[in-house]
Amino acid sequence: MNTRMDRKKFLQLAVLSNLGLLLPSQKVAATTINALSFTQTFNTGNVTYFKKGEEGYEKLRKGFNKRINKYPQVIALCYNTDGVAEAMQYAIKNQLPVAIKSGGHCMEGFSCNNDGMVINLSLLNDVKWVSKSIIKVGPACILSALYNAILPKGKILPGGSCGSVGIGGLSLGGGYGLLSRQYGLACDSLLEVTMVDGKGNIINSAVDDDLLWACKGGGNGNFGAITEMKFKVHKAPALMKSFRFRAFKVNTGRAKDILKKWFELSDNLPPTSFSAYVLNGKTLYILLTSTEKNIAGIKFFIDGISALVDKTVVGKALPIATALKAYYGIQHPVYFKNASAGLYKKFEDIESYIADVMDIVTNTPGMIYQVNTLGGNIINNQFEKASAFPHRSYPYFSELQTYWDNEKQMPGLLNKFKDVQDIFIKNGINVQYRNYPDINFNNYNTLYYGNSYTKLQQIKNKYDPDNIISHEQSIKNA
Ligand SMILES: Cc1cc2nc3c(=O)[nH]c(=O)nc-3n(C[C@H](O)[C@H](O)[C@H](O)COP(=O)(O)OP(=O)(O)OC[C@H]3O[C@@H](n4cnc5c(N)ncnc54)[C@H](O)[C@@H]3O)c2cc1C
Repeated sequence: MNTRMDRKKFLQLAVLSNLGLLLPSQKVAATTINALSFTQTFNTGNVTYFKKGEEGYEKLRKGFNKRINKYPQVIALCYNTDGVAEAMQYAIKNQLPVAIKSGGHCMEGFSCNNDGMVINLSLLNDVKWVSKSIIKVGPACILSALYNAILPKGKILPGGSCGSVGIGGLSLGGGYGLLSRQYGLACDSLLEVTMVDGKGNIINSAVDDDLLWACKGGGNGNFGAITEMKFKVHKAPALMKSFRFRAFKVNTGRAKDILKKWFELSDNLPPTSFSAYVLNGKTLYILLTSTEKNIAGIKFFIDGISALVDKTVVGKALPIATALKAYYGIQHPVYFKNASAGLYKKFEDIESYIADVMDIVTNTPGMIYQVNTLGGNIINNQFEKASAFPHRSYPYFSELQTYWDNEKQMPGLLNKFKDVQDIFIKNGINVQYRNYPDINFNNYNTLYYGNSYTKLQQIKNKYDPDNIISHEQSIKNA
């Protein structure tokens, strides 16, 4: 990826910006870029700079969350690592705070900023084979493209479920999904990164183990722009089965009873299974997946939950590539707020007050409270030592979601959202997942990073002493 823009990238870019602006004749020498005085989009060969208001800027600016709109002064669309270093030096010279964007799915829009520079990595999205079990990936490769590249060779990287999320942001913050209990978090398979730091230098983690450690759970927009990622890939399971359970018109009492049973049963699931409890207004949905041919090991769960719900759908065993596609979700930007609502060890952590949460959710159409299983091989001593991700002893991760079509619905839903989050905070929830940030978390660094925070601050001091790379909840210099 460290080459100048090739034809494929050029065509991708032309489609992206719908422009003929990037012709080689308009190339400007990098050394001449030292002020914000340019009036037209220009291309240095390694980067194209788009200024606010210009054609092409809008498409590059937008992220997946339509709720959030920010307007950087400059967007640097980079073609390679040298281009990222060039853009970082430009930002330093012009004192522009930098945000970094790969797949653009940050739930609070931290990959964009107002009046600074956004380093847009969307063209760094290749997947290359280094060996039969190692790949080199651009951070903006989206998960569906990644799975399409490796599953035909019988390999898998345990990423997330949504097909349009970028592997960059996902794995730098941890990265969990349907297969994490089997293989670990996405960051646990990360072997090496190339990064442009906040001083504009290109660094490889092979010379600094602490940098790799930090990028496994603490690397989102904090001390550098990761431009290449080397991952170990695993032998993919052949198939996946999905079991879906539904209960309709549930009230708080029933939702709580089923949640209690779900915790009890899910605690004994094998690592080859994942489950989610999803309370969507008054409809309750429980998902169970398994990559094992034989369901003997999960029969207790199927029987236990079936006895409590109104409908059980037993899915067929599907080839893994087909099965994963069912979870790719919406691929286009939507209005939403989604955030971590705490990691838990057991039902008793929330038992005394979860009815208050459910009262709001069951009476708010468009609001979802979801609990997902972590655990399995995520709880692994070696992975724990090798990564900044601090929450491995919590086998459950919960999230709160709201979606709307009409902007008028937004204030009401956001108020309800805050009411629910306040219940968790008031009751002492003090562990949250960085990849599901909430702008309203006050002591976010402790919530996201726990005991890893002090060491992450040292890495920040080393690679970005002047805090060039920042967003609303980035790691602060010590
Ligand atoms: C619809 C949807 C589904 C999701 N499903 C899952 C899931 O199943 N599992 C899961 O774990 N998470 C999931 N997430 C959360 C997801 O992991 C985070 O939003 C992730 O940060 C998105 O990465 P991105 O590259 O797409 O986003 P971006 O918005 O580009 O980046 C997100 C953050 O990472 C930083 N960043 C991005 N690239 C780099 C880089 N190259 N170098 C340094 N910093 C960088 C950004 O500055 C920003 O702070 C989901 C999110 C959405 C919106």
